[in-house]
Amino acid sequence: MTPVIALVGRPNVGKSTLFNRLTRTRDAIVADFAGLTRDRHYGMAKQGKRQFIVVDTGGLEPDTSGGIFQAMAQQTLQAVAEADLVLFMVDLRAGASAQDHDIAAYLRKLGKPTLLVANKAEGMKNSAQLADFYEMGLGEVYPVSAAHGQGVRDLLDLAVEAL
Ligand code: GDP
Ligand code: MG
Repeated sequence: MTPVIALVGRPNVGKSTLFNRLTRTRDAIVADFAGLTRDRHYGMAKQGKRQFIVVDTGGLEPDTSGGIFQAMAQQTLQAVAEADLVLFMVDLRAGASAQDHDIAAYLRKLGKPTLLVANKAEGMKNSAQLADFYEMGLGEVYPVSAAHGQGVRDLLDLAVEAL
């Protein structure tokens, strides 16, 4: 079975940007509008000889009720359930939000292998904001820049090791 890696996180952290970099497709819609990608998108990715499926999600919205937000949360929960590994993405520039903490709590409870990825880290690698994310109790925080590529291959090395 080809392993599955799910990209999860609140809207606008850069999930679709990372998806596109990993799969080298434009399947996920990258936009400046939070939460535009409302369906799960699957793509194939490769690291060395390892091949895996990447799932982009529309964003976990634990505090909203009804309509599109509930649907987004539902499909994200399904993507997490189906995944062998979760890449939980946060925005290093924005810092840790209440929504990030809610998602972290959910993932901790679930106990699924999870790597905490601090995106938008280009030029900010020693940022004090990293400390906030260590408090989430998900272990190491991996700074990357999905848009520019820094840290992405190193992250994938760890991801395939964890599969
Ligand atoms: P999603 O909602 O989590 O799928 O986020 P998107 O991939 O649509 O990205 C949201 C916004 O963040 C877009 O304006 C992206 O260009 C921007 N973005 C994504 N990755 C990076 C990054 O590594 N650095 C910076 N500075 N911006 C990024
Ligand atoms: Mg998206």
